[in-house]
Order: sequence, then structure tokens, then C-alpha cells
Amino acid sequence: LYGDERPNSRGWDLHDVDDVAAIETARNPFRDHFWTVGPLINGDVKSKIERPVVSPSNHNDKVGVVIQASAEDVETALLHAAPWDQDAKLRAETLRRAADLYEKNFGELFAALSREAGKTPMDAIAEVREAVDFLRYYAARGTELTNPARGVVACVSPWNFPLAIFSGQIAAALAAGNAVIAKPADPTSITAAIAVDLIHQAGVPRSALQLLPGRGSVVGAKITADPRIKGVCFTGSTQTAQTINRAMAEQIVPSAPLIAETGGLNVMIVDSTALPEQAIKDIVASAFQSAGQRCSALRLLYVQEDVAEPFLEMLFGAMDELVVGSPWDYRTDVGPVINSDALDEIREYIELARSNGRVLKELATPAEGTFVPPTVLKVNGIADLGKEIFGPVMHVATYKASDLDAVVAAVNATGYGLTFGMHSRIDDRIEQVTSQLNVGNMYINRNQIGAIVGSQPFGGEGLSGTGPKAGGPSYVKRFAQPKTRSIEF
Ligand code: GLU
Repeated sequence: LYGDERPNSRGWDLHDVDDVAAIETARNPFRDHFWTVGPLINGDVKSKIERPVVSPSNHNDKVGVVIQASAEDVETALLHAAPWDQDAKLRAETLRRAADLYEKNFGELFAALSREAGKTPMDAIAEVREAVDFLRYYAARGTELTNPARGVVACVSPWNFPLAIFSGQIAAALAAGNAVIAKPADPTSITAAIAVDLIHQAGVPRSALQLLPGRGSVVGAKITADPRIKGVCFTGSTQTAQTINRAMAEQIVPSAPLIAETGGLNVMIVDSTALPEQAIKDIVASAFQSAGQRCSALRLLYVQEDVAEPFLEMLFGAMDELVVGSPWDYRTDVGPVINSDALDEIREYIELARSNGRVLKELATPAEGTFVPPTVLKVNGIADLGKEIFGPVMHVATYKASDLDAVVAAVNATGYGLTFGMHSRIDDRIEQVTSQLNVGNMYINRNQIGAIVGSQPFGGEGLSGTGPKAGGPSYVKRFAQPKTRSIEF
């Protein structure tokens, strides 16, 4: 899949003492580091607006300061953006160099991911690996293109994968030869700036890659509605994707594509033939890893009625083993949510459920920091879930074996279709369910998060995204301008 390239990044093994020692040596110099970052544009930065950044898990940990791009800085970036006019093979070499630099500088990246985004060591490792994989995979795909770049592409990325998705969008657009204007998510601009600096160091010219940290209403709104932008790549909420889509329809040339990865109301079905120990391990990972802040995360577990009682008791017992705490600590399974707005919103949701007597299980959390306790709420079915709750909150419903088709129909009726999980030992039943579901990524007898670049292209259907799938063979092609040339002799 990587052509002549090496396979997926090997990463770091937290069970290997040498790897852990290497992580410690590399990240410790950044334990108290104070980053000062700002727009990285092909011209002078005019803005003086500063935003202080503190760690979500510890508000006394001052992570740094971000200079927020002004409308004038956005204009400078747009004026001085120029597609990366270099041979595709040289572009690929440069992107591979960037991947090598990410691996070499993993200590700084780990520290920023942990302190700015609240990533646990396990999540930080997965994130650096995925970013490296995207850079190498898209570099290879770029060399296979026969069509030219589109021009200047806006990449608008989320805070939940501030390195992986951020780098993936940029790498794909650059691999096809576009100029990129990247708007990172506000809460994770430091990680984004470290990444862009490494990509520049690798040799990508400033005219081809500019970073504009800042408010969505200033930066995002301006770049996604500017006619000089020839494509927008966005990962985030369905609602924001719809806003961007409308802005593009008004302003940008009609052919400019929107490549959007959005939310999900992801379900797992566990039937009476499932192996409980395995299913529970996969449920806990799918719902609570990354504090549930993945669009792929499990939101609603359907358990077959006949086995529900002992199964849920076992699940709650397993949840008691989860360590909720500082993302810097190796023992931590569940870190904080991103900020106090997220905390307030999720807490309010849990309190409403509590007042309706729907809280089945809840863990304790540290008193300080933006921690949400891993929580399980009872519902009747998917129709009870109004919106995606982006945190460690899982819903549970039971179903009768004879109602399986109705469950599938109800999942399809939400209009979302991102991930789906199923634990069952009956092949025909797995086939029956998966062939009916309108879902982008389905996972059987395993967890439903952590798609691997190159082998599990990731992306949803319907309200969950436009496609093409990230980390798959069609993605980079979408960043190139389709052309047909017919010549008669
Ligand atoms: N690709 C990620 C996964 O498979 C999820 C991406 C997202 O949350 O946006 O878990």
C-alpha cells in the first residue's frame, strides 16, 4: 500500500521498558516548557491578540500563548499562497522527511498533545503514529496522480486529533501539489504550530503551507467563503460542515469540493453468542478511550435482553478498573475533556439523565481539571439520542433477538453512519446486519475506534461525512483537478 515506502510507523510500546525510557527522555524537557506560537504565514503577522493556553487537566499548568490571526493576516495568507509547483516525487520526498522529523521530535509532540489536548500516553502514541502514517501514505499516493493541483485549499481541523487529522488533511492537499491554508482548532493551536514548523523544516515552502490559528468566526468563516479557495477539507461537527457548505455555495466557484468528516451516533450490538470478556474490553476502549472524544466512539450499546443483566454487571466491574486522571501519567486510561465549555455541556446532559433516573453507572473523577466521569446511561433505543455527546458517556439499551431488524432500521433512520461494532459468533447474523447498515466503518468482534491508515480507510455516510475516506486510495485524488484530454491523430 505504501508503494516503495516502509509500512506503518512502528510507534512506541508502553510495555517495553526501553521505549518508555526513550519517551521519558524525549518528553521531559517539555514538561514545563512555555510555547509562544502564532500565524505562520508567507508575510508579516500584524495581529497582537494573544490567547493564553492552560492544560485542561491542570489549570495551573501554563502551556503557552497563541497569537490569534486577524482578518488582515488571513488576507496576507490568501495573497501570498502559491501551489507547490514541484515534481510529485520531490514533493513526496519532502513529506517523508516531515514524517521522519515527526518521529525524531516525538518528545515535544507527546508533551504538547498531553498538556494542550489532554492526551494520555497511549493516545499520544497512536496520534503521532497516525500523523506519520498519513504523511507517508499520502506522499506515495501523490506520486500516482495524473491530474494537476486544484490551487489553494483550506484545511479546517478538529481539536480531538490535533496532530493526526491536522497533518492528514495537510499532507493530502500538499501531496497533490496544492497550497494549503490551515486553520487549526482553537484549543489545540500549539500542537498545530509545532507540526507546521516541522513540515516547513522538511522543505515545504511557506507559500505552500500557511497556518492561521484564531477564532472560527474570524479565520474559518473568511477562508471558507473566499473565492480564491479551490477546496475545503473539514473535520468537525455536522452543523459546522453545513455552515461551510452554505458559505461555499454562495462564494466559492461551484466546482470547489467540500471534503467533510463529521459526527456520528455510533452503535455496537452485542448478542447472546458474544464472548463477554472480549466484548467488554472492546466496549470500554470504544466508549471511554480518549475520554470518548472521537467521532468514531461508541455512543449506544445494544445488548440482547437474555444476557443483559450479567453482562452489564461485568461491564460495570471492568469500568471500576479504569484510572481517570492526569494525561501525563502512564497509568491513566481516561484523561480530561478538552475545556470547561465541553465539561459544562456534558455535565448538564448527565444531570438531566440523573433527574430522569437513567444513570446506571458513574465513576469518580479528580476534583480539579475538566474531568467527566465515565458514565453509562439507560435509554430505550437510538431514537432517544438527540445529538452526539462528545465525551465518555455511553448509552445502553436492550433488544429482543426477534427485533434485530428493527434495531438496524432505527440506526439507519438517524441519518448518521460513521462506525458500527458487533460482537456475535453467528456469521449469518453478522452478514444480515452489516449488509443492511448505512455505515462507513464496521468492526466485528473488536473495538470500533482507531482506524489504521492504509488498511482501514476511515469516513462515514449521510450526516457523517462526504467521503472520500481518509487513509484510503481515493483521498488524495479528490485534491486534484479532474481533467480529460482527447487527442485525435
Ligand atoms: N479515525 C479516528 C478513529 O478511527 C476517529 C477520527 C475522529 O474522531 O475524527 O478512531
